[in-house]
Amino acid sequence: MKSFTVTIQRCSECSGLVDDRRISAGGIILQKWTDGKTNNSAINVSSHTRCFLVKCPYCLKNIWFNKLEIHSSRSLLFGEPEDFDKSRPFSKPKVQDYADELAAGRVSADKEENFRHVMWWVGNDRRRDIKKKKPMLDSEIENLQILSKVCEDPNKYQRLKLAEIKRELGLFDEASRLLIEHCNNKKTDEYRVFLQGLVSKQDCTVRGIPFT
Ligand SMILES: [Zn+2]
Repeated sequence: MKSFTVTIQRCSECSGLVDDRRISAGGIILQKWTDGKTNNSAINVSSHTRCFLVKCPYCLKNIWFNKLEIHSSRSLLFGEPEDFDKSRPFSKPKVQDYADELAAGRVSADKEENFRHVMWWVGNDRRRDIKKKKPMLDSEIENLQILSKVCEDPNKYQRLKLAEIKRELGLFDEASRLLIEHCNNKKTDEYRVFLQGLVSKQDCTVRGIPFT
């Protein structure tokens, strides 16, 4: 059995108690999307080296969870942490909150790529498994354009990531060129062919991958 630790921190703006109970569950990956997000939010956050932006549920300010003062932390196997009943789970920031943090220069250079990747996921959350697809906001398009430059000299893995970014931007010819070369790994190549199918249909929406 896995031990699920919950950490309660104190908001730097209003001193309210905020916790990470919604990301501590971990679990098996059952669903993966073309932008790299999975159903396992703990993994999604750990790829962000636990340095992640949240919204305080009381004062609604954007706060960096790992930089807050720790109030209590405990594995739920040993009971709830101190003041668990007085704490609220953090709220999720929206795309504009991520854009605001970047514009304010509060994201360090070494964290920027991961941060932009999470911003990509947050934007796509408005399109996952929803029939009526919402178009990208200008800030999402700009984010993907910058993220694509990071992958300009792609290795095999980044090549597919870059192709996915181009596809979501509607740059189907560029995406198609990146998907011509076969991948050595059978599973990765299966994914490459899947992306090719979406590009040929001129589909620019994030999609669930029908295999894991
Ligand atoms: Zn607060």
